[in-house]
Amino acid sequence: FDQMPTLGDVARYHARERRGSVALSFEGRDTTFAAFDRNTNRVANALTAAGLKKGQRIAYVGKNSDHYFELLIGAAKVGVVMTPIGWRLAPPEVAYIVQDSEAPLVFVGPEVIGLTEDVAAHLTQRPKVIAMEAEGAGDAPLFEAWRDAASDADPAVAITAQDVAVQLYTSGTTGRPKGAMLTHANILSGRRAAAEAKMAWNEWGPDDVSLVAMPVAHIGGTGWGIVGLYNGAKGVVAREFDPFKVLDFIEHERISKMFMVPAALQIVVRQPRAREVDYSRMKYILYGASPIPLDLLRECMEVFGCGFCQQYGMTETCGTIVYLPPEDHDPAGNARMRAAGLPMPGVELKIIDGDGNSLPPNTVGEVATRSVANMAGYWRLDEATRATVGADGWLRTGDAGYLDEDGYLFIHDRVKDMIISGAENIYPAEVESAVYGHPAVAEVAVIGVPDEKWGEAVKAVVALKPGQTATPDDIIAFARGRIAAFKAPKTVDFIDALPRNASGKILRRELREPYWAGRERRVN
Ligand code: ATP
Ligand code: MG
Repeated sequence: FDQMPTLGDVARYHARERRGSVALSFEGRDTTFAAFDRNTNRVANALTAAGLKKGQRIAYVGKNSDHYFELLIGAAKVGVVMTPIGWRLAPPEVAYIVQDSEAPLVFVGPEVIGLTEDVAAHLTQRPKVIAMEAEGAGDAPLFEAWRDAASDADPAVAITAQDVAVQLYTSGTTGRPKGAMLTHANILSGRRAAAEAKMAWNEWGPDDVSLVAMPVAHIGGTGWGIVGLYNGAKGVVAREFDPFKVLDFIEHERISKMFMVPAALQIVVRQPRAREVDYSRMKYILYGASPIPLDLLRECMEVFGCGFCQQYGMTETCGTIVYLPPEDHDPAGNARMRAAGLPMPGVELKIIDGDGNSLPPNTVGEVATRSVANMAGYWRLDEATRATVGADGWLRTGDAGYLDEDGYLFIHDRVKDMIISGAENIYPAEVESAVYGHPAVAEVAVIGVPDEKWGEAVKAVVALKPGQTATPDDIIAFARGRIAAFKAPKTVDFIDALPRNASGKILRRELREPYWAGRERRVN
């Protein structure tokens, strides 16, 4: 691309360069780049025919599908903004985003179609609904018929890279999801810089096949899908995350790259079949979106035997802004393996104190970042936008961390999740990583609970592996053997499974709530 491309240009480019190659593969339906370009033209023209104008939003509520990407890129060709919504959200939560985005048209997958009435009950204005699939669609028009009634000629609407293309809501780990407005330039400039930097893990060839298995309502699904399309790779789209199917895809679809959150990797690697699959085609597994316990990373490296690359980023930065190169993944587990990694080309990082002053290396503070990937702002949340992105373009991530002398970023945790016990700052992720190594522990979350003497005390909430037993004292003793005593849990509760959102992130605020009922927890 000579100029900064738009998402539409990506489709147009590959339709010329690799017409017959498969762009997307979904449940036996293969779409070539040529067909993908035509289908996105149809979507663009159908949206225009439906009365949608540049700058308006459409919403998609459903599991992953190739058609979602057609909608996204098709909408982008006429400046209509795609807002994907998590299908696992409860009806009032879906309604909140539909209402907030003001989408007059909502595309609904079969898994949520029964819910549309429940969602509508929470809306003041009823949007038009188009069903993605025939199953349960009732009277709603079907996507394919709706698309194919429109012309496949390029809509030729003037779109610039500064226009908003996607409104992606944050995962809602720390509060209500916020609609991050991402422009074409935000989404693609980082891709372009990364491609120019020629890092081996980020090189894409004609044989590369990428697996899109994380939900498209999050940057790990939509962003990763766009990475593959941008690079002209074949994208195998998984309807939803299913560990059996992930192993099937790896075996039968010759997957060479995939992005997965640690919680998903853990489920895949623990499948009994995981050790029998042939991973010789897999080049790199990219992982991130939440901290990974070191023991889990080592287990994955041993079982999958491919290159690993950590990704750190957020919805507000269109995903990855920091990566830990495969070379820094040492099976013995060196200190650097605990890092989130180095800034991507064009990304600036700094660590700041509460007043916004820069801190020296090896000093923990809030991570701030500046790059062309930073969002245009939160939709209709001017105050939150100002609190997050300064006039100077630096974005406060809300994450605590430090940079070492070599520029490696180490992420401790969310600033809001830091536990202050006595005069000590304790980061849950470090304690979780220590406890996770206990052989009976399946998963663990660490939270701060009120404590008379220390202000807050460290509590571990543990889910044990099926058939395993351990007492709180076992867990505490184990942790004390691995980390400083003041960081080790003082108490342990057992739970069947941890509350997580669709991005696999532990909802510590939910776990904390019963302990803090009626009390105000200081926020750092
Ligand atoms: P909300 O902003 O609504 O509370 P969220 O922050 O979880 O939700 P996302 O944008 O999906 O929404 O996630 C970004 C956050 O994920 C980062 O701010 C960071 O806390 C965490 N994260 C991402 N990558 C990593 C990583 N490699 N290691 C540790 N944490 C990570
Ligand atoms: Mg966030």
